[in-house]
Amino acid sequence: MTAAFAPVADPAGPWPELDARRLVILGATGSVGSSTLALVAERRRRVPGALPIEVLTAQSRVDSLIDLARAFRPALAVIGEPALYGRLKEGLAGSGVEAAAGPRALVEAAGRPADWVMAAIVGAAGLAPTLEAVRRGRIVAFANKECLVCAGPIFLAELARSHAALVPVDSEHNAIFQILAGARSEEVARLILTASGGPFRTASLAEMGAATPAMAIAHPNWDMGAKISVDSATMMNKGLELIEAHHLFGMGTECLDVVIHPQSIVHSLVEFTDGSVLAQLGTPDMRTPVAYALAWPHRMPTAASRLDLQAVATLSFAPPDHERFPALALARAALEEGQNGPTLLNAANEVAVEAFLARRIGFLDIVRTVERVLERISPRHPAPADSLEAVFALDSEARTAAREAMAEGSL
Ligand code: NAD
Ligand code: MG
Repeated sequence: MTAAFAPVADPAGPWPELDARRLVILGATGSVGSSTLALVAERRRRVPGALPIEVLTAQSRVDSLIDLARAFRPALAVIGEPALYGRLKEGLAGSGVEAAAGPRALVEAAGRPADWVMAAIVGAAGLAPTLEAVRRGRIVAFANKECLVCAGPIFLAELARSHAALVPVDSEHNAIFQILAGARSEEVARLILTASGGPFRTASLAEMGAATPAMAIAHPNWDMGAKISVDSATMMNKGLELIEAHHLFGMGTECLDVVIHPQSIVHSLVEFTDGSVLAQLGTPDMRTPVAYALAWPHRMPTAASRLDLQAVATLSFAPPDHERFPALALARAALEEGQNGPTLLNAANEVAVEAFLARRIGFLDIVRTVERVLERISPRHPAPADSLEAVFALDSEARTAAREAMAEGSL
C-alpha cells in the first residue's frame, strides 16, 4: 500500500466540525494570535456561539490580554510573566474568566480540554506548551516554527504516538501542505519555498551594516512580530523555514529550494516527479493560512484580502544572494550537520536578534554571532539531544556562547 502524503496530519482523524471546535490560543496578543482572533470574531458574527475559547495566553502584555479575555470570554487567561498575576486577576475580576501565571501554567493551559491549539508563541519559549498540545492529540495550528527547528525529532515522535495533527500556519508550509493534500510521498520531487527577500533585498552590504531596528522591522509585504521581521531581513527566517520544511514534509535538503519572489503572492511550490509544478497563491494576509488550519481538513469563508492578478501584473523570481544573506547557507549546513546544529543556530539567533533590537550589536553582527556559536559549540555535541531537557541544555549553552561572542567584540 502506498502512503498518502500526510505525515503530520491525518485528515481522517476524529476532528469535530469547525464551529464546535474548542480553542486554545498560545500567544494571543501577537501578530498571528490577532489574525486568529479576528477570524474567530468574524465567524461568531455569522454563527453566534461558534468556536468557544478555553484559553488565551500572553507573556507580558497584560492589559491587552485582559481586553481580549473580556471580549472573547475564554475559561482561562494565562500570563507568562509571574509578576503580572495580580494585575491579570484584578483586571478579570467579575468577568468569570479564571487567571493563572508562569511557565508551568502555560504548559497546563496547552493541555486543557480543547480540540484546536494555535501555537503562536515566538521562539524556543513555545517548546514545552506546544509539545504538550501535541501530546494531548489536538489539532495543532503550527506557527511557532522554532519548536520544530529546535526539537524536530522529539515533536515527530510525539506526533506519531499521540495522533495529533500538526497543520502548518507559516504561509510557505501552509501552501505546500495545501498542495500536497492527497499526494503520495514518492510523487514529490522538490519543494520550492518562496522568500520575499525582506526590506534589504536590494540594499548594499554597507547599507545593511548601518541598518537600524526600525528599518529591519519594516517588512515590505507582511505585518509581523519584531523577531520574525528581523529574521526576514537577515533571511534567517528562510533558513529556519528550510529546517521546518524538512521535518514537516520529510524531505532531504537536496530536495528543498529557495527562490526570491518579492511580491509574496506565490506562497510556495511543489515539483512532482512527472514535471508538474503546483503553486498556492494569495495576498500576503495571514488570515488565509490561519483559516485553513482552523477549518482543516475543510475550508471556511474569510474576509481576507483577495488576489487581483491584473493589479499585481508581474510575478518575478530570482536566486538568493548568499554573499549578502549568509544565514540561508548557514541554516542549511546546520541541518546537514545533524540534529543539534539547528538547536544551536536557533538559540544563538534569538539572543543576537534581541541584542540587535536593543541596539547592542549591528545588523550584520546577528548572523556573525550565530556563525561563531556554531563554530565553537557544534563540535562539542556530536550526540543528538534526545529529550526536551537535553534540547534546553544545548539551547542554554548556545545562548551563553552567543553573549560571550558579542561581548568579545570580535565579530
Ligand atoms: P509576536 O511577537 O507578534 O507574538 C508573540 C506572542 O508570543 C505574544 O502573544 C507574546 O505574548 C507571546 N510570547 C512571547 N514571548 C513569550 C514567552 N517567553 N513565553 C510565552 N509567550 C511568549 O510574534 P508573531 O509574529 O505572532 O509570531 C509568532 C510565531 O509565529 C513565531 O514563531 C513566528 O516565527 C511565527 N510566524 C509568524 C508569522 C506572522 O505573520 N507574524 C508568519 C509565520 C510564522
Ligand atoms: Mg513564512
